[in-house]
Amino acid sequence: MKALWLENNQISLRDIPQPNQPNEALIKIRMAGICSTDLELVKGYYPYAGILGHEFVGEVVQAPEKSWLGQRVVGEINAVCGSCESCLSGRPTHCENRSVLGIANRAGVFAEYTSLPLENLYRVPDSVSDEAARRPSR
Ligand SMILES: [Zn+2]
Ligand SMILES: [Zn+2]
Repeated sequence: MKALWLENNQISLRDIPQPNQPNEALIKIRMAGICSTDLELVKGYYPYAGILGHEFVGEVVQAPEKSWLGQRVVGEINAVCGSCESCLSGRPTHCENRSVLGIANRAGVFAEYTSLPLENLYRVPDSVSDEAARRPSR
C-alpha cells in the first residue's frame, strides 16, 4: 500500500505491506486530518519514525468480529495490550506496551490502510459526514 513515511524530519511516499494484525480491525482510510502534533513530529519534537497521522475516518474491511465489517469508524489513538500486568490488574492507562497511533510504536493513518483494536473504534452514524468525523485540524 502507499503510505506517508516520516524519518529524520523528512516525509516520503513509500510502498509498504499493508497492516496484518488478525486480532485487530483492518481499516481502509477514507479521509485523514493533519493536526499540530503531526507538524511537531515532522520538526522532530518527538522521536518517531514510521507512518504519520492519527486523525481519520475509515471503513472496516477486516475484523475479528463480523459485525464491524463495512462500518464507518473513527478511533481512539491510545492502544493498550490487554495482557500485561497493568492491563490485567485494571490499570490499562499504565499499560507497559501502550502505543499511540501515528505517534509512538504504532503505524498511523496517512496510508491506504491502518490497524486498531476493536475496543478503540467508534461507529460513525450515517448523518455525520467524513469531513465532520475525521476531526478538523487547527
Ligand atoms: Zn491530533
Ligand atoms: Zn498492557
